[in-house]
Amino acid sequence: MPSSHSALAALPSNPLFRIGALVHGRNDVLHLEFGEPDFPTPAHITQAAADSLASEQPTYGPNAGMRWLREAIATRTARVQGVAVDPARVVVAGGGTGALTASLLALCGPGDEVLIPDPGWPGYNMMALLPGARPVRYPLLPASGWLPDLEALEAAITPRTRVLIVNSPSNPGGAVFPRAVIEQLVTIAERHDLWLLSDECYDELTFDAEHVSPLAFESGRRVLTVGTFSKAYAMTGWRMGWVVAPSAVVPPITTAVAAKINNLPLFVQRAGYAALTGPQECVAAMREAYRARREIALDMLRASELVEYIPSGAFYLLIHVARLARSVPPGAFDSTAFAEALVGARGVAVGPGAAFGESIPGYVRISLASSETTLRQGIGAMLDYAREYRGEAS
Ligand code: PLP
Repeated sequence: MPSSHSALAALPSNPLFRIGALVHGRNDVLHLEFGEPDFPTPAHITQAAADSLASEQPTYGPNAGMRWLREAIATRTARVQGVAVDPARVVVAGGGTGALTASLLALCGPGDEVLIPDPGWPGYNMMALLPGARPVRYPLLPASGWLPDLEALEAAITPRTRVLIVNSPSNPGGAVFPRAVIEQLVTIAERHDLWLLSDECYDELTFDAEHVSPLAFESGRRVLTVGTFSKAYAMTGWRMGWVVAPSAVVPPITTAVAAKINNLPLFVQRAGYAALTGPQECVAAMREAYRARREIALDMLRASELVEYIPSGAFYLLIHVARLARSVPPGAFDSTAFAEALVGARGVAVGPGAAFGESIPGYVRISLASSETTLRQGIGAMLDYAREYRGEAS
């Protein structure tokens, strides 16, 4: 069996997906576990898909996506990343997930190393294994509000390192990396001759910080920028995202998309075009709702002295819940056992810290993409339960 496949087979199931499977479809559970906007996709976007289905046949199309959609993404890149790019550098893929996977398949091979953030989105770990590469974690630190430890990152680089994955605004920390940090990351990538794969899936969801893209730096010639329709437009199930890549790697990324899905359905691409070229007030309205929910969550945590930082982007919050569980010996808190027990005892689903790497077993992640009522009730019940939690014996 090829090494990448055996590595995938050896990968333990992710605790977040385990919680997801446990509560899937249950409406007696308060869902705070996934980054799933509770808003419907805006009507003008779904209408564009319906119009397309009514008037044109969704045939096979270009692997990299329809030209008009790639142009609209290039225009958006100029608006959000602040960089004018040739639409020929855009490849449309199956969500940010598909764009990241296709990029990694194009950029690395067996034995290469891919630097991934810890805590970080669980997808990176799985995806690095597909081309047979090895994920290597670099730390993000709670004391700085989950910014990367640049010294530790650079120390983790070896002659086999090929790709540095950067995620700002970040999941699960909700950090928006300041300009100086992004610039240093670009410099490190350049110094060590690495590809910088920048996951900017939350780039339009910042609250009180400016989003800075590594693409914007002159030295960022080996930067790839990944985006998605899922988060800002509440289009998770439409499965559409993109990557803006240096011209040299566009052909292999396109080949990877061709090998996986050939092309995205035409009506989905029409919806994406409507999202990018239509009114943008829906994005601002959802962002403001997430901001209000962040305040609700923080207020509830303040009463328990659990606020360690304030997320400035994306829609997640890491909570150091082990601090409340005084009956569990320090260092022994198991976030997965806690999250599973919480579902059983209080009907609340959260993301265990263990889902996001090795560094935060005492934390859980909650999603601010859930309704205000769910947030209030869910956080309240979780904090109550944490106080009485005794670990596995409970
Ligand atoms: N990147 C990050 C950091 C995410 O949190 C997610 C989804 O949660 C994705 C990428 C992929 O999203 P999608 O494939 O829906 O675009």
